[in-house]
Amino acid sequence: MNIIFGPIYSRRFGKSLGVDLSPSKKQCNFDCLYCELEPSKTMSTQDEVVSVENILNAIQNGLNEHKDIDVLTITANGEPTIYPHLLELINEINKIKGTIKVLILSNASTINNLKVQEALLKFDEVKLSLDCATQKCLKKLDRSDDSISIENIKAGMLEFKNRYKAPLIIEILVVKTLNDSKDEISKLNEYLLKLKPTRIDLGTIDRPPAFNVKPVSYEDLLQISHYFDSSLPIYIATRKKSDISSSSYSYDEILDTLAKRPLTQEDIEALFDTESKKRVENLLHKEKIELIETNGVEFFKKI
Ligand code: SF4
Repeated sequence: MNIIFGPIYSRRFGKSLGVDLSPSKKQCNFDCLYCELEPSKTMSTQDEVVSVENILNAIQNGLNEHKDIDVLTITANGEPTIYPHLLELINEINKIKGTIKVLILSNASTINNLKVQEALLKFDEVKLSLDCATQKCLKKLDRSDDSISIENIKAGMLEFKNRYKAPLIIEILVVKTLNDSKDEISKLNEYLLKLKPTRIDLGTIDRPPAFNVKPVSYEDLLQISHYFDSSLPIYIATRKKSDISSSSYSYDEILDTLAKRPLTQEDIEALFDTESKKRVENLLHKEKIELIETNGVEFFKKI
């Protein structure tokens, strides 16, 4: 039973040590088609619970072993917010963490629960998944527990966002034919304009999924990113960027592209050929475009 995993290196955070709140088996209130864990029955609370003391001991041992950790990432083989002692756990972690940041990755299913919000408010960063804007999509793609409603999730997120002052990141995982329609994306867009998260990570399946579902290509993600309002800070988060070939962009094409969608340095690296990258540098120098930082990710944007 391994509560601690890693460390892994994260470009944004540095060295991250993972903490698994469900180390013995999958315990989740979703059973997503793209989950990399085996399919399993959904549950709204954990039936195998590790004590706060055991988790803290594991964290302390992990921190003793790896002296240079920058961030503790709280996650689970399943959904970490259905761990029943989350508030007590984060209170205890905050007593021992020193300068280390603590972040949590959640599927957002419980965000309308005030007790969960109380716990999440104590994290340095919260990342919530939001694959769907409609109940039909949530049921089909995330195969959520019957007790979960997308409207409650959306209302809970808005309420939480009003209370939370640290970075709130939204993650959208796009799956071919399941949530990549213009209609679903336009509903997500409408909602995200109200939510105003710190950043939106748009990704697709990167690891072998539990069911036979397909990722979309990087080009599709780029296209989908254009369906969102250009004021939303969308970061295309996929490892598949290296599969595509770079192209030539004129000055006008660069300005036009950045007006529709700010691009990260990684996007520029993947999409632009050498000459086009020089044009980006020139435009930056001439102050036609700017580089803005949003929670550790830099975007090129038209001024
Ligand atoms: S929320 Fe995460 S752990 Fe739960 S089923 Fe979906 S992908 Fe798997």
